[in-house]
Amino acid sequence: MQLAPGLHRVGNDIIAAYLVEGDGGLTLIDAGVAGQYSDLLAELKAMGRSVTDIKGVVLTHGDSDHIGYAERLRSEHGIPVYVGEADAARARGEESSHPAWGKARIGATTGFLWYSMRKGGMRTKYLTEVIPVHDGDVLDLPGSPRIVALPGHSAGSIGIAVPAVDALFVGDAFTTRHVLTGKRGPQPAPFTDDQDAARESHAKLATVEARWVLPGHGPAWDRGTRELAAELARADATA
Ligand SMILES: [Zn+2]
Repeated sequence: MQLAPGLHRVGNDIIAAYLVEGDGGLTLIDAGVAGQYSDLLAELKAMGRSVTDIKGVVLTHGDSDHIGYAERLRSEHGIPVYVGEADAARARGEESSHPAWGKARIGATTGFLWYSMRKGGMRTKYLTEVIPVHDGDVLDLPGSPRIVALPGHSAGSIGIAVPAVDALFVGDAFTTRHVLTGKRGPQPAPFTDDQDAARESHAKLATVEARWVLPGHGPAWDRGTRELAAELARADATA
């Protein structure tokens, strides 16, 4: 789905990845779950592009619902995969993330798990090779993505700022639709390792200039980072 010129979403409100068009090709942000590979191919086709146009994959963090077809792109097409250094081990499957089944509402939980399972979330192929990135790095990829450290959900969670499309990709730094309860609107993401760090990262969002703020789960946000940070501060205060 095209969100704006040069900015595309792959997947849906349950699990989303994003494509950015820039000079020399495409940058893919996150890689969903394995079974969403067909969604990637369909989006590329709609754009008049192919897999070989993807010059790099940047992972917002190492959780299994974000790395689904990254290793496939890497091993079959030689596409490099970047991840925040502190999440490299998680992306390689050397360290498991730990679900916290707090306020799950059974319907939404079942929906998320069923979708993930059906789409191969349980057949995750971990990365065998990743390129670690750090706060402030500007990658030599289409759109010149800049790394913004957003620790909290995981230690190596990063935002990826792409000024060319006025966007900041945030993975699970926050969510606009809670995968477990189904609740909508900007709010802390479930399965977060360090809530205090996550709250600091929410405030940090306001320091990045971007109209689009794009989470791994839930609808796109297009009202800018300052309004978003204000809403998250309110949500954090009541969480
Ligand atoms: Zn996630």
